[in-house]
Order: sequence, then structure tokens, then C-alpha cells
Amino acid sequence: MTDLEEYVPAPRPESAAVLTRKLVRNYGPTVALAGIDLEVERGEIYGFLGPNGAGKSTLIRVLCTLLRPSAGTASVAGYDVADHPKEVRVRIGVALQEAALDPRQTGRELLALQGRLYGLRPAEIRRRLDAVLDLVDVGHAIDRRIGTYSGGMKRRLDLAAALVHNPEVLFLDEPTTGLDPESRARVWAEVDRLNTELGITIFLTTQYLEEADALASRVGIIAGGRLVAEGPPEVLKRSVGADLIVAEVGGSDPTALARLNQLGVVDSVTMEHGRVVVSTSDGPAALASVVAQLGRTRLEVHTLAVRTPTLDDVFRELTGSHLETAVADR
Ligand code: ADP
Repeated sequence: MTDLEEYVPAPRPESAAVLTRKLVRNYGPTVALAGIDLEVERGEIYGFLGPNGAGKSTLIRVLCTLLRPSAGTASVAGYDVADHPKEVRVRIGVALQEAALDPRQTGRELLALQGRLYGLRPAEIRRRLDAVLDLVDVGHAIDRRIGTYSGGMKRRLDLAAALVHNPEVLFLDEPTTGLDPESRARVWAEVDRLNTELGITIFLTTQYLEEADALASRVGIIAGGRLVAEGPPEVLKRSVGADLIVAEVGGSDPTALARLNQLGVVDSVTMEHGRVVVSTSDGPAALASVVAQLGRTRLEVHTLAVRTPTLDDVFRELTGSHLETAVADR
């Protein structure tokens, strides 16, 4: 190998934490990623949200150099994942869903092993462990065998392990899937702290709306291997309308949508699975006329509510299906 071949360009300090262009990944005939263009700035928490099978794990595996792109490009911390995988690996921390933790090891042994795998010297490992354990609270359990840990503790240990070598970008694949609400909230608090106190860029995938909403400064919504929407959660939700009037209805009336659309206060109306959703800039003000208009249709109104949009409403408007339903269907 010549000196030139060994030469690895220094990352440009201004380069994005994650950058993909027309990124495609196939598994045989299955197109898991169908051309993803993504740019995550340093210091962001970017939430990648989508139902099961949408392509979230595939994307995270490509970005972590565990899978090669089929076409297009991806770079992380300024390095192309296909051309310079080693440069990428030393700059990222990864906590994937099915972390293989040896139940006979103690938490501290696992973290030390992780440090050795990254080539850190013993004194450095001790220093890093102190720093990491300051950040991720595993408490006295750190010296107990991992086999005794709860699900939430294992996730936090996993998070600590991903931080031992002081990465620039942290990848978390569904960090709270399967956790109870209290453990989930603790993991959220740790993730938020890593970002605000250390400025670590965090790229996480999730199938939970609240998780993306609570943590991410920007959310990308993926469906069928494509990015269908992207932006700060607040902006995405506002794009659906300021307020939604949601009516659970029975019966059918093909004229109902047109009638509701005639109302000046209504921005848009959708109807599916016995639910009419009216988007409007002022829910309380529009409610009376929406109710009166529904009364002129053959629909029976069972329940009626005014609420602000959720990320699920964004997903529904873009894809015609529900994130929550998609999750419940598993
Ligand atoms: P998500 O993480 O959003 O649930 P995945 O990235 O796991 O989605 O899957 C995206 C698509 O690729 C799905 O259709 C899935 O069935 C398919 N897929 C994932 N892994 C493999 C694999 N190893 N072999 C074949 N198909 C796969």
C-alpha cells in the first residue's frame, strides 16, 4: 500500500454529522431504503420515526458501517461509510436493539472491555469510566452482574458502553422499545443530558410518537423506505392545522366530506375507519358549525373532540395510515 492509499482526509469541521444522498439499500428484491437524502447537523438530536418495517434499522446499520449501501452515498462525521468505515467507527457510539450483553460480566467489566476494544490504555479507561458513569446513572449496580439488571438498566448500560470512547455521533436504535414508561422517561432524560451537556449529536430511531416529540429537535418520518416529511416536531404538527376536530361516527354518507369542506372555517377534512377529522385554524370557533353541518348528514356522531395535532396526524395525512395502528398491528 502506498502512502497515498493510506491517506485519510481530515474531516471538515463544518461537515454535517450525517449526510446521505440518494441512499439505497436492497435485500435481494426488497427495497428497504429507496433513495434517502438526509442531513443532520452537529449538535442535533434527530429522530427517525416510522412504523415497523419502514427501514429505520437498515438506515442506522448503513450509517454505522454494518451494512454497505446498494447505491447512493452516506457519510458520518465527515467520512464516507463505504470508503472510510474505520474512520467512521472511531467517531461513533452505537446502541442497537439486540445488544448482546454477557450476563456473567459486571457492568464495569463490560465498559472496561469496550474501552480496550477501542484501544484505550488502562489509565484512560479508568478516566473515561468515571466520566461515563457521571453521565449515565447505573448506580451501585455497576459492580453487579449484568444478569441481575432490569430492562431499563441494561439500556442505560448499553448507552454508557456506547460512550466509552467519547464519540462525536451517537446512534440509538429504538432505545426504549419494550421499556415501561418510568424506565423510558429515565432513558430520555439521559439522552437529553448527553446532548445538552456534551453537545453529542444523537441520531435515534423510534416507533413512538411521544419519544420523537419529547427528544428530537428535528424529526424525519419514514414510510416504505422513503423520507415522507422532515422538520421540527412543532412545525410538522402545525402543517396539519392548528386544531383538529375529531368525530367518531357511524353510518355512511358520501356527501358528508363535501358538505364539511363547504364551511369557510374548515381547512381540510378526511374520513376513514368511522372517524372524521376536520383541520381548522380555530377549533373552538369552528366546532358549532361543524356539529351543525354533521347534523345535516346521515352520519351518527358518537363522540366529538377538539385537540391539537400529533405526529401521528402528520403521518396519517402523508401516508393515509396510522403510526400507532402500524405499531399495534405487529
Ligand atoms: P424498521 O427498522 O423500520 O422496522 P427494517 O430496516 O428492519 O425496518 O426493514 C426494512 C425492510 O427491509 C422490511 O421490509 C424488512 O422486511 C426488510 N428487511 C430487513 N432486514 C432484512 C434482511 N436481513 N433480509 C431481508 N429483508 C430484510
